[in-house]
Amino acid sequence: MRIAVVGGGVIGLSTAFHLADRNAGTVILVEKGPIGDGSSSRAGGIITGLMGTETAVRARKISLALFQRFSREVDGYTFHDVGTLNLAADQGAGRVEMLPLYDRLDAPYEILDADEMRRRWPLMAVPDDAWGLYDPIAGYSEPDEYVAAMAAHLRKLGVEIREFEPVLGFPMQGDRVIGVRTAAETIEADVVVCASHVWSIRLLEQFGWRMPSKVFVHQRYVSTPVPKPVILPAVNDHPRRGYYRPAFGNRVLIGIETPDREEVPPPERDLHLSRFSVDPDIRERELNRLQYVVPDVAPLSWEIEKVGLLAYSADGEPILGPAPGVRGLICAGCFHSGGFAYNPSAGLLAAEWAMDGRTSIDIGSFAPDRFDPQQARAFIDSRIRHSEYQHALHAGGRH
Ligand SMILES: Cc1cc2nc3c(=O)[nH]c(=O)nc-3n(C[C@H](O)[C@H](O)[C@H](O)COP(=O)(O)OP(=O)(O)OC[C@H]3O[C@@H](n4cnc5c(N)ncnc54)[C@H](O)[C@@H]3O)c2cc1C
Repeated sequence: MRIAVVGGGVIGLSTAFHLADRNAGTVILVEKGPIGDGSSSRAGGIITGLMGTETAVRARKISLALFQRFSREVDGYTFHDVGTLNLAADQGAGRVEMLPLYDRLDAPYEILDADEMRRRWPLMAVPDDAWGLYDPIAGYSEPDEYVAAMAAHLRKLGVEIREFEPVLGFPMQGDRVIGVRTAAETIEADVVVCASHVWSIRLLEQFGWRMPSKVFVHQRYVSTPVPKPVILPAVNDHPRRGYYRPAFGNRVLIGIETPDREEVPPPERDLHLSRFSVDPDIRERELNRLQYVVPDVAPLSWEIEKVGLLAYSADGEPILGPAPGVRGLICAGCFHSGGFAYNPSAGLLAAEWAMDGRTSIDIGSFAPDRFDPQQARAFIDSRIRHSEYQHALHAGGRH
């Protein structure tokens, strides 16, 4: 079997890994820039298994086990299993209802009050009314390290990685995709997996299909080294609209939600993420606000700014499975602010679709053809801010 994977971000890399791991045959990964040129290397790298739907919890369980496996098997990569603390307002309203699901699916958690959080992580400022849902088997990865280590590992496994080769389209035989077309050549394939993130939206228009998705700019920061040991979990701090975690070399990483920001149009193929920047006022205001979560080492000074794009579907769930009306094409996208966390399982599920025509867990709620065409059209035609999207779906955007 010959399989082409479009996109060298974490979803494409993970798909190629699982194809090679299962001896699928010839696996060719095609990337328009260098590997990791998209949002993946800009991610915060935080993961939690404590999600809002059964499918998501099941997929994240697989991801967590695979992060541990990769940490053992992939040279140069370490999964930091410091746990992930999901902070919520109103005594966990909206999260408490999920606990029976976590019990049934054997997804471990602890409920922590303010005193317990202060005892475990004295560096962290915890309000008296804080409510924490702690995921003890989760944590974070350093995205740059992960992407480089996975790419090197894939080369060892025999995956052909072609960088600086934009895919221009998909050659067809009847209703079947038979490969990918680049400026230099046509690469024949029995199956193609399209994992080109926000760029998939325009690429897939070749089939008269518009992914019902919205694209938003998002940013995160890494501090200079701090004078005290950074003993923190990875934290999804929903009340403060941000997230933070320890980072390499005793630094702190902070990510910021910007609810007022308007969506951006789906990018053209040549649009590079370096075109996006953060309004200096937003940067200063939000970073000032968030850095006092670690008062003993604040004020922090910032060494690294990463700006990337997030893609959200019309119902908030990822889009993963066969492209509607086309044979031989699997798409994997719209992983909201959680694509890094999904990547090990998303790649496994895409590889299963490509090789077996079915998946080991039920991912009907991720099916690309699940959207009502009229509602999808209305969603595509609307112009919204991030907060309006989150409000409509009650979606906090979980890592
Ligand atoms: C600032 C920020 C922080 C984030 N933090 C987290 C976090 O803490 N946890 C988490 O789980 N998620 C996080 N995310 C989300 C996560 O980064 C994304 O969901 C994930 O990286 C998507 O992976 P991907 O492989 O689909 O996309 P990408 O990494 O963008 O990969 C797609 C690749 O396709 C390539 N490509 C595009 N078009 C073509 C073409 N025509 N031909 C060939 N190649 C093409 C691109 O160059 C790119 O390299 C964050 C995102 C941002 C921006």
